[in-house]
Amino acid sequence: MHSAPAPDLCPNCLKPDHLCICEAVQPIDNGVFLLILQHPQEKRENLGTAQIAHLQFANSMVKVGLSWPGLKRILGREVDPKRWGVLYLGPVKEGGGPRPEVAAVDRDGVPLRDSAQILDDLEGVIVLDGTWSQAKTLWWRNAWLLKCRRIVLNPQFRSLYGQARKEPRRDSVSTLEAGAFLLSRLESDKTILDTALKPFSLLLKKLRQPRPRPVPTGDSTGGEGDGEEAGGGEG
Ligand SMILES: [Zn+2]
Repeated sequence: MHSAPAPDLCPNCLKPDHLCICEAVQPIDNGVFLLILQHPQEKRENLGTAQIAHLQFANSMVKVGLSWPGLKRILGREVDPKRWGVLYLGPVKEGGGPRPEVAAVDRDGVPLRDSAQILDDLEGVIVLDGTWSQAKTLWWRNAWLLKCRRIVLNPQFRSLYGQARKEPRRDSVSTLEAGAFLLSRLESDKTILDTALKPFSLLLKKLRQPRPRPVPTGDSTGGEGDGEEAGGGEG
């Protein structure tokens, strides 16, 4: 963490101006609602993806906090928690067969026999946004999540995120990637994933570029040896 003065944030994507990804956003009219519950500490992460997911998915919501009384209060309408899935953080029991890309599991992490039917019937999905321990905090502080369906992912793509972020995360997949992957499978539209990840690719690209330097105000001559340190080669 640097103690540099806070840069101006883009009011839309909430990234510092030099990391704004708005140009790459192509909103998707998703049918299954995406609800992101964000740990308050995650909000300040440059690499955070909750707001990007919110911009990408027309039917989505980001709530920042540690606990909420329930899904109904968050959404402001009656809901059947059995028609909502939450990305499950616990261990998954490997069954006999190959693990599906998306599965509904029971309390012990065992895939349910009627998983496909449950997934078909989902009205919305909930993703907990934060590091592994932050996400776990959200899980334990919101007991109502236990009433929702537990969903586990087995993504077969390589996360853009894995190398970029140091803290261990669930499956090393960003909130955006997890949400987009899940929606692409629930809606049987693989283009959702590609489209949704474009702003994230742009973010990572911008993060790799050297920070723009402030334009000098006075007419300072010299400036010799003003390091053009690009900060090491590509990882
Ligand atoms: Zn922006």
